[in-house]
Amino acid sequence: MKRRDFICGFSCLLAGAAISEIRNKAANKKTSYPKLSDYPELEEGLGSINIAAASHCNLSCKNCDTFSPLSSSEFVEYEQLKKDLKKVKELAPDRDIHIGFIGGEPTLNPDLTKMMKFVNELYPNSGKSILTNGLLLDRMSEEFWKEAKKGNYSFGITKYPLNIPREKYEKIAKENGININYDYPQAPKLYDLNTHEVIDENYNQEGFAWSKNILDLTGSQDYIEKRYTCPHKGIITYTRGNLYYCYVHAHIKSFIDYFKVNIPVTKDDYIKIAEVKDIQEIDKFISTPKPLCRFCKQCHNTCYGGKPLEWGFSKREITEWTMG
Ligand code: SF4
Ligand code: SF4
Repeated sequence: MKRRDFICGFSCLLAGAAISEIRNKAANKKTSYPKLSDYPELEEGLGSINIAAASHCNLSCKNCDTFSPLSSSEFVEYEQLKKDLKKVKELAPDRDIHIGFIGGEPTLNPDLTKMMKFVNELYPNSGKSILTNGLLLDRMSEEFWKEAKKGNYSFGITKYPLNIPREKYEKIAKENGININYDYPQAPKLYDLNTHEVIDENYNQEGFAWSKNILDLTGSQDYIEKRYTCPHKGIITYTRGNLYYCYVHAHIKSFIDYFKVNIPVTKDDYIKIAEVKDIQEIDKFISTPKPLCRFCKQCHNTCYGGKPLEWGFSKREITEWTMG
């Protein structure tokens, strides 16, 4: 998953100004990190849930933001999702919560269509979306397209520089009145999907700059400031019956397990829907800085001189997610 369309809201700008002031005061007092209580409270309510339908993926892009090349096979379970979404609906019956299906690769989940049907019934008036690499779309069932149409799903497809036949699913989507939005990573070369060999040296696809989200294994980032400045926070991600602050939090387990690094994921970093008593508890969770952000620089290519990286297949090396 690569998302480049994160928009930092107005509240973020206001909070940013307040933070500068607090940080300046803190600098004068020679303290390195202001206290949490010094920061303005942000009132934010749960407005969207991104369901990480599968943590793994059928592609293995280097620098993958969700660490999918490192992930073992892990699906969100249909029955658990049903229980948890029903509970959220009971807690906030009047909120039209946007539901997104993301990954890894969401179309790998064999229950995806059932989940979409359930979401369509539970949240008929909410916005709905699927973020996919499109590799399996030409094999999806009629039922899948029916539910996609019924729920008016928006499809975000990343067009990787691969020789994938896209005409078939584009036709089906068109016949069903479904709008497909492509995102194009900048890519000088075209690759063969199966052999991973370069098949066109001069492909030169224009698009957004490929980058990596750099982790800080020392855990010394200012996580309180990240609450206000990170454009990726608030991409509330659901997996394992929990809500996570962003997709990095939801998937960092794959990175930890694969490289055997010591990054503690604490009880403050996620919220278990089954244990929640009221919607304010979730709203508060969303509004509060998370200790896990200490391990994320969240700088993408600004950390390494603004140069876009070249898209390629992952070699599962730790430097794909660290400064290197
Ligand atoms: S398509 Fe690539 S970037 Fe997206 S989840 Fe799969 S491996 Fe990661
Ligand atoms: S881990 Fe924290 S700093 Fe990194 S992308 Fe997520 S919210 Fe932002």
